[in-house]
Amino acid sequence: MISSIPTRRKVVFLTIDDGWEQDPGFVRQVRDGRIPVAAFVTRDAVEARGAADPTAQGGRYLGAGKWDYVREMREAGVTIENHTLTHPDLRALGYEGQRAEICGASRLIRRQVGTGPWLLRPPFGNHNTLTRRAAKACGVKALLLWTATVQPGGKIAYQVPDKKLRPGDVLLLHFRPNLSRDFRVLVSKIKRRGFEIGNLDAYLEAAGVTR
Ligand SMILES: [Zn+2]
Repeated sequence: MISSIPTRRKVVFLTIDDGWEQDPGFVRQVRDGRIPVAAFVTRDAVEARGAADPTAQGGRYLGAGKWDYVREMREAGVTIENHTLTHPDLRALGYEGQRAEICGASRLIRRQVGTGPWLLRPPFGNHNTLTRRAAKACGVKALLLWTATVQPGGKIAYQVPDKKLRPGDVLLLHFRPNLSRDFRVLVSKIKRRGFEIGNLDAYLEAAGVTR
């Protein structure tokens, strides 16, 4: 289980969750700027089923492209990771239920984008020992949490009192309206503070997480 990446370099990592809102401007920015991002996608968000995640703050169905959008992200260099099928609180499920959520999402992502995920972000950050067992059975190598969330407007909500970015911080965004505008604000803020945006896979591999 990982919340931040061990490094002394001034580097932070961008992750983005769910997939309710599909903003083409975001894909262009990532592609043109070669910005490393990991997207943790939920089937029901990408396919616009069920109820929107309240923590996505305004995310709504705009999934006209559905998995095409996820494939476009993949082609733009975004890594596509596991955020379950239906976005449940995994702690409320038994082992088989958790396994179905995690393995189902991994199989679907592999089928839709060609490469299977190696990371799981449990919805709401909630997990227990069964989650780790089930994730392992589904080929997931690590659970990735986060150290700060990014709010509408590109504002960083820190979990530490001094409100500073730290080397190895993992920032959590959501696919929500105005993502490309907020993303631009966020990226320039990170660079102004002298930080780079790191490639999560490369740093995890250097930290000893193996596929
Ligand atoms: Zn989520």
